[in-house]
Amino acid sequence: MRPGITIGGALMERNAIGIIGAGLAGLCCASILQKRGYTPVLLEKGRGVGGRLATRRTDAGFQFDHGAQYITARTPDFRNAVARLIGKGAAGTWSGADREVIVGTPSMNAMAKVLAGGLDIRRKTRVTDLRAEENGWRAATADSVFQFDRLVVTAPQPQTVGLLGVEHPLANAISAVRMSPCWTLMATFADQQEIPFTSRSAPDSYLAWIALNSSKPGRPDTNSWVVQASADWSARNLEREADDVAQEMLLRLCGILRIEPSNAVHASAHRWRYARVEEPLGTPFCRNDAGTLYLGGDWCLGARVEAAWTSGKAIADDLLGEIDAR
Ligand SMILES: Cc1cc2nc3c(=O)[nH]c(=O)nc-3n(C[C@H](O)[C@H](O)[C@H](O)COP(=O)(O)OP(=O)(O)OC[C@H]3O[C@@H](n4cnc5c(N)ncnc54)[C@H](O)[C@@H]3O)c2cc1C
Repeated sequence: MRPGITIGGALMERNAIGIIGAGLAGLCCASILQKRGYTPVLLEKGRGVGGRLATRRTDAGFQFDHGAQYITARTPDFRNAVARLIGKGAAGTWSGADREVIVGTPSMNAMAKVLAGGLDIRRKTRVTDLRAEENGWRAATADSVFQFDRLVVTAPQPQTVGLLGVEHPLANAISAVRMSPCWTLMATFADQQEIPFTSRSAPDSYLAWIALNSSKPGRPDTNSWVVQASADWSARNLEREADDVAQEMLLRLCGILRIEPSNAVHASAHRWRYARVEEPLGTPFCRNDAGTLYLGGDWCLGARVEAAWTSGKAIADDLLGEIDAR
């Protein structure tokens, strides 16, 4: 990191490589660059890392994986990465779905935390403005300005377009990508005698996915459920109050689980405005000719954690090739 200076109250800092977003795409990209001796700076608007690989903990000790439910690994590269995470105790198998799948342990975001180790991540740092400069890119936050020779943006596609502006040629190049929302209910019940299933996938129903989160390995021993509304229902109800949505989804869940709503000791809802990729870009990333701006994330390849990781790796490989060619 090159030292920062203060100009007009805003801290200015210049670095070689910046990455917006510490989800799986950003973390994967950064860790490859770091292994090659670079020190990328990650700017992340959230308090934690992992993005949609997310875990919510309540004061009462309940825990919910309210984003990605599990991961699957199809490519050898990602399989190796997952094996390393299992070796570090950050992932394990869960047979609560219709097949054996991989989950983070003791929480989905544990995998992201391991990948984040040793990286320079500026949390609670939301980039509000992006500008091209003669020698790279300038990313402004509420109280700082970062200048980067090369910049990687891994925010969901609509947010990436928002940062670049619709007139930007790369925003135009990714304009066909479509993402859908997802309302997610997190609920815990006291005195639940009967557990009818550990997960239920019903893509055509309004409650499209229901999982007993506490049946995943390493979770607190509570009857904690995660429920995802379908993309259609979520889109139609997107702007409703979270408490209102939680109550409606809870009542429906109670009907399915045959439990009295009064047994609920926790019920809250999270609105994922950009949850899943419906129409991916079809290539692992998008970049400008100069190789100073890269755009990537799951939206390049599909609605899966593996897609995010693959995009992040492809960006790192291309960026290193660009630097080596100079
Ligand atoms: C409800 C739900 C269920 C899912 N289920 C599964 C599943 O079971 N299996 C599976 O494989 N995948 C699942 N997915 C998809 C999976 O979570 C994503 O594909 C993957 O996590 C995306 O990673 P990413 O790095 O591309 O994006 P993200 O995880 O979204 O990371 C982008 C990061 O950029 C940050 N950011 C955005 N804008 C800014 C800004 N202006 N300034 C600073 N930071 C910014 C965000 O805070 C975020 O941390 C699910 C997703 C959701 C929401």
